[in-house]
Amino acid sequence: MVQADPQMLAAAETVVSSLNLPRGSSEFGIYNPADGRLLATLPDLTPQEALDAVGQADEAGRRWACRTARERADALHAWYELITHSAEQIALLITLEMGKPLKESRAEVSYASDFVRWYAEEALRPAGSFRDAPDGAPTLMVRRAPIGLAVLITPWNFPLAMATRKIAPALAAGCPVVIKPSELTPLTTFMAVGLARQAGVPAELIQVISTTDAAGFSEALLTDSRVRKISFTGSTRVGKILLRLASEQVLRPSMELGGNAPLIVFDDADLDRAIEGTYAAKMRNGGQSCIAANRIYVQDGIAEAFVEGLTEKMRDVVMGDGLGPGVGLAPLISHQAVSSVGRLVEDAVQRGASLLTRGEVIDGGEGSYFPATVLDHVPAEAELASTEIFGPVAAIQRFTDEAEVVQRANATEFGLAGYVFTENLDRALNVADSLQTGLVGINQGVPSNAAAPFGGLKQSGLGREGGGEGLEEYQETRFYNVARRETERGN
Ligand code: ADP
Repeated sequence: MVQADPQMLAAAETVVSSLNLPRGSSEFGIYNPADGRLLATLPDLTPQEALDAVGQADEAGRRWACRTARERADALHAWYELITHSAEQIALLITLEMGKPLKESRAEVSYASDFVRWYAEEALRPAGSFRDAPDGAPTLMVRRAPIGLAVLITPWNFPLAMATRKIAPALAAGCPVVIKPSELTPLTTFMAVGLARQAGVPAELIQVISTTDAAGFSEALLTDSRVRKISFTGSTRVGKILLRLASEQVLRPSMELGGNAPLIVFDDADLDRAIEGTYAAKMRNGGQSCIAANRIYVQDGIAEAFVEGLTEKMRDVVMGDGLGPGVGLAPLISHQAVSSVGRLVEDAVQRGASLLTRGEVIDGGEGSYFPATVLDHVPAEAELASTEIFGPVAAIQRFTDEAEVVQRANATEFGLAGYVFTENLDRALNVADSLQTGLVGINQGVPSNAAAPFGGLKQSGLGREGGGEGLEEYQETRFYNVARRETERGN
């Protein structure tokens, strides 16, 4: 197994020590998933302390809402520049606390900063409109106002991108935020918010709450009348709890929840492109992504060649510390994740799936490693066909015809991402239309983009992040009906 490059590791640890983290009477630790070592400690804030932060954000938010769109955009542009300037340091930090290979952390910084740049630009787009009523008499003025204080709860798998995808549109719209990063990866949020402050965003406007009491936090904040919005990315299970809490004050919810993405490879697909795309859709972040290809459906005619090509690629991946040279598969987030992925693989094999490769099972010491695994002929009743795998396991099923595969692909309560590989444009678009998912990758495995509305159908969520739609999530729509009396006209 590949170890961390000592120079990279030293550079990453320097980033942590330069963070100027807050201190508290009660603290919790943040650990490196590659070796289990303690990286830093943070205050374990109580629900009452989080409510105090709500008060501060609320005050700062009143002033921020009065700033011009240009001023808000300028602050976001400056933040974008600082993130770009510190990209390498942030990437090192992401790998250190989250584990993913450094190359992927760099890609995350680029993707994450794109949201800041996009919303810096979007902040200036005229939001309101005038409309004529059908009866001609009044003039309707439609306005967009900031929704108010937003509570943001982010997961550990993309610690920077999930934060900027929420904070940037909130600030662009004129809202204050209280963000609770995952207790597993909070350091990246502290660094990013530190840069926002350096960029001129008022210090109180973004409150970061470090806590291990996620339930206490959400119970206190989502029932507080100063809060107007909740944006959450995480599991469907927790999303449902938050939706129930959000009903108390009728908060506007944005929910990016679990997925169970189908990926369909047709006989007429370009083989290399299908293998590359599937590999990317499966292996990005070691499979720990809510849009990861969870069920891979391959048509009979291309199946042998595809399975062979994908298995070879999976077998070749270099596993090790995300700061090690050439590493393509880093540790999973925790030992618990390793055992849950292992359990899903065992279940599939017991039910008849064939295990084509399972890499080298290594003893990573305190690191939480799981090798790249390919399963073929996975039966539909295997647990991993209906559960998010969240690990580097390609689970392949075979199919014969288009209508059948679409029906199998849609046989899930989730509907976040889907993928289709075919060189036939009609088929690509017809299948994309038939898939019950919020986004579809056509001949490609990494569909997300800051300019596009990301989000799920069915139990995968509510609302969209990215694009103009992502800004509207933080805006209230209001209208004024202006009465007009006839006057003597010149014409
Ligand atoms: P994952 O399985 O990806 O960790 P979770 O939904 O458990 O997904 O966690 C995503 C985020 O939700 C994390 O920030 C976590 O701390 C937070 N979280 C977990 N439980 C709750 C809860 N009851 N209320 C609010 N946030 C929660």
